[in-house]
Amino acid sequence: MSSDPATDLPFFYGSISRSDAEQHLKLGGMADGLFLLRQCIRSLGGYVLSVVWNLEFNHYSIEKQLNGTYCIAGGRPHCGPAELCEYYSKDADGLVCNLRKPCLRPADTAIQASTFDNMKDGMLREYVRQTWNLEGDAMEQAIVSQASQLEKLIATTAHEKMPWFHGKIPRHEGERRLYAGVQPDGKFLVREKDETGSFALSVMYGKTPYHYRIEQDKSGKYSMPEGTKFDTLWQLVEYLRMKPDGMVTVLREACVHGTSAEKRTPVLPAVRRHGNGYTPPPAALLRPGVTKLPETDDSDNNPYHNPNEVRKFTIQRSQLMIDEVELGSGNFGCVKRGVLQTDKGQIDVAIKVLKNENEKLVRDEMMREAEIMYQLDNIYIVRMLGLCSGEHLMLVMEMAAAGPLHKFLSSNKETVSVENIVNLMHQVSMGMKYLEEKNFVHRDLAARNVLLVNQNFAKISDFGLSKALGADDNYYKARTGGKWPLKWYAPECLNYHKFSSKSDVWSFGVTMWEAFSYGGKPYKKMKGAEVTSFIESGKRMDCPAACPEPMYTVMSECWIYKHEERPDFKKVEASMRSYNSSISTQTSPEGAAAAAKPVK
Ligand code: ADP
Ligand code: MG
Repeated sequence: MSSDPATDLPFFYGSISRSDAEQHLKLGGMADGLFLLRQCIRSLGGYVLSVVWNLEFNHYSIEKQLNGTYCIAGGRPHCGPAELCEYYSKDADGLVCNLRKPCLRPADTAIQASTFDNMKDGMLREYVRQTWNLEGDAMEQAIVSQASQLEKLIATTAHEKMPWFHGKIPRHEGERRLYAGVQPDGKFLVREKDETGSFALSVMYGKTPYHYRIEQDKSGKYSMPEGTKFDTLWQLVEYLRMKPDGMVTVLREACVHGTSAEKRTPVLPAVRRHGNGYTPPPAALLRPGVTKLPETDDSDNNPYHNPNEVRKFTIQRSQLMIDEVELGSGNFGCVKRGVLQTDKGQIDVAIKVLKNENEKLVRDEMMREAEIMYQLDNIYIVRMLGLCSGEHLMLVMEMAAAGPLHKFLSSNKETVSVENIVNLMHQVSMGMKYLEEKNFVHRDLAARNVLLVNQNFAKISDFGLSKALGADDNYYKARTGGKWPLKWYAPECLNYHKFSSKSDVWSFGVTMWEAFSYGGKPYKKMKGAEVTSFIESGKRMDCPAACPEPMYTVMSECWIYKHEERPDFKKVEASMRSYNSSISTQTSPEGAAAAAKPVK
């Protein structure tokens, strides 16, 4: 299904190393402008363009942008690798020279598939089957509509399926396994270190095991200490098979994990143990007038991206068909159903239509919401597809057809099991953990703002009140109060107007309460002020009838009065995950599928 868009190019080599690329160019004659294209092993979906000039090699990395376009940092965006190469063949536009002669792949050389390419499709299917309990057509549909998001998600957990990944074992056990059997130099394994979810690499050299800590930076990228950074763990390992990057040796033979996959701790790909894992390549800075494009050396931590640079992408009014059907409404205007026409086909969308765009305040608010959403890229968060200024200003989002969580639950009490709700709330916690890592506060997390794609797939929405925190801040201070959802707000929000991920955790607790009471109204008929004194006096809502005890424990922890003592989403997600996987192993014979009921 998701074949590489460069597959048809005769000068595309797939996942080959830099030195292999240089070898091919040498064999190709080293003429000025001789070039080839290869897969980038650092960033998902990216490429490297290798060009000869003056008997020297130049390597340019091509990143895939959030909106699906490709560009060399600082250069123009193009809709595909072919278009990009065609463009640079006519105009050097910052490269050492224009692309003059493709270095053609010899007839006997196949495109080198990366390990992940070979596993991808199977993993996608398994993931969708397990996590959302979909089969057949419904599964194919989900895969098609979510393909790019799913690929990233799967990529971040792909290492769990690798023969060299041994899970959580102590260092001495790692050594024992390396010593077992023959011990060639470069025999290696990766293990998980402890609860913090960090990893270590153990490698044999001269019959001695060496251990290296794998580092993960704030944005979730993996590297050896001071080394090249990668989106995913398996990419790092692939790279270390080619370059030692500070280690005693390159990695060679995998020390194969002996036990069968079933005997391992059940691996739920939905579970991201290690940060959000994937951080999207942020929109490149487009700098007009820049003449020289930065070259990649495959080993830099490219500083040319500014994650705060928001490039708003525009949707033409002609690409959009708007239904009369209203999905919902608010004081900004209403949300309508529609269809967006793209190069790849039609997509169902939800369109937030601004009612009174002449009011600058309202317009600014919508632009802020769009800017926040544009920076988010997580499967459990509703994605913004673009802005369209037609008869009104419109925010186009992916469609979550099954609507708000509280409504869905209250009208489907008979068909939604408690396990199903646990799974959905775990998904919400994963989305929130991502927000926390990215330093965003939501400020309006509630069941009404959790939308369902289907019965087993939830996404967080409504970023109307959300804020991006500064790098050094851990809270947002609202200067004035406003139309606030008081029943969802933590004490420090009401008392000091301080909003942080911890106050979102409080709201998550209330959202859980709503979910486990099948869409019930929190704090019954109490008024805002009554709720405040209820909380201040140390009281909390009771456990909803259907709610499992461990879930009420999580809820209660979310309602710890002092935010310093309240768990963060990293912790909350871990609790949700562990309970979710404990019940899903009990209820399904395979021990892996979530216990939720299938759709239909
Ligand atoms: P408000 O700020 O007024 O709460 P929301 O973003 O929550 O605005 O949208 C209002 C309603 O519109 C939601 O409750 C939901 O019913 C509908 N809606 C919003 N976004 C979507 C979407 N992506 N898919 C489906 N329905 C949506
Ligand atoms: Mg809302």
